[in-house]
Amino acid sequence: MPPSPLTPHASLTSSFEFFPPNTDEGAEKLAVTARELALLKPKFFSVTYGAGGSTQARTLKAVLDLRAAGHDAAPHISCVGSTRAGLRDFLQQYKESGIKHLVALRGDLPSGTASAGEFHYANELVAFIRKEFGSHFVIEVAAYPEYHPQAKSAQDDLNNFKRKVDAGADSAITQYFYNADCYYHFIEQCEKMGIAIPVVPGIMPIGRFSQLARFSDACGAEIPRWIRKKLEGYGDDTDSIRAFGLDVVTKLCEDLLKAGAPGLHFYTMNQSALTTAIWKRLGL
Ligand code: FAD
Repeated sequence: MPPSPLTPHASLTSSFEFFPPNTDEGAEKLAVTARELALLKPKFFSVTYGAGGSTQARTLKAVLDLRAAGHDAAPHISCVGSTRAGLRDFLQQYKESGIKHLVALRGDLPSGTASAGEFHYANELVAFIRKEFGSHFVIEVAAYPEYHPQAKSAQDDLNNFKRKVDAGADSAITQYFYNADCYYHFIEQCEKMGIAIPVVPGIMPIGRFSQLARFSDACGAEIPRWIRKKLEGYGDDTDSIRAFGLDVVTKLCEDLLKAGAPGLHFYTMNQSALTTAIWKRLGL
């Protein structure tokens, strides 16, 4: 589908996401991965945050390690299961560590419910950060071009996305997808609703099919049938899965950028090879 309403952006926002390592070996490996990916000159790295604050200390440490190595790093922070006082203290720690950029999320409790704690939705977290810390932090939020799995309806999800923007989000990163049309449609809907912040597509390189299928089932990201069938057909042939995945994901990125996407956010899984290969193929 020709993405006509969008125009190419002059300066791209690229970012690479990591999860916080839980061993010293993982931390050393992440430092190497970050060095390799830094060669691609991303705008920032981001580090995820475990459900209910389960990785709070590790996320903080990973972000501080990345910053000490000279990289710009933004922690993710989720609010479900948290108290205002707890989050205020933690955000204050980030502020005092010189961190000015956050990815603010609701998160998911292991039970799948969002009822515990003093926050229920990410818009409340964004409003809280703005109230307590003014404009100190640049705030990214999540967006779902295929809609969030718990959304009552597509329009309801868009309305809820707008709540986060109205609460003070500066930009958004999407859940990953392999069908660019959902992104174009989402952007059109946002424009109609007067949402003007950049919405950067989240990109998941394809490395292992079983892992991708598990993630996708959990987060509601669709693997189009033709891609699923091809990947299933390769069985344990990792080289073929990666080669096919590189073709598919590079083409997706190319189409998105041509259509005017403001940048790309890669879910790296703490690996540099696939992200670097896609980046080089894109000639960025
Ligand atoms: P919300 O924006 O609060 O939306 C959640 C659901 O509630 C949606 O269905 C929405 O339609 C609905 N909703 C929103 N606001 C309201 C309202 N006011 N009233 C009624 N309904 C409402 N998870 C982690 O645990 N750690 C991470 O580090 C992490 N990083 C992520 C990074 C990105 C880029 C993305 C896309 C997701 C990430 N997630 C992470 C997953 C995320 O936490 C889950 O998708 C979670 O289920 C929703 O979080 P949210 O911030 O989008 O929630």
